[in-house]
Amino acid sequence: MHEVSIAQGLLKIVEDETKKHGASRATRLHVRIGELSACVPDSLTFAFEVVSKGTVAEGAELSIEIVPARGRCDKCDVEFDVDDTMFLCPQCGGIAAEIICGKELELTEMEVD
Ligand SMILES: [Zn+2]
Repeated sequence: MHEVSIAQGLLKIVEDETKKHGASRATRLHVRIGELSACVPDSLTFAFEVVSKGTVAEGAELSIEIVPARGRCDKCDVEFDVDDTMFLCPQCGGIAAEIICGKELELTEMEVD
């Protein structure tokens, strides 16, 4: 299951951050996840509950924000929204677009004890 590896990646970030701040427990987490990570928020919440058992993040409340994907055209430098099937530049129709966001996994806020 795809979400399990995302949840494990997230847990690693949380463990590093709590250690850095000398916290014993994370209580609330806000994460930003790129649309192109193809991650289902409910599945991720469930997967995180499972992988965080017995860790500093056990029982933490997870709030998930999905970040829309954006691409940039190499030729005309235009930025535009993309999805899984559309990577075309609206200006020149080129497919040389570079994905500038939409694949991120980022912990933006964390409350600790
Ligand atoms: Zn273009």
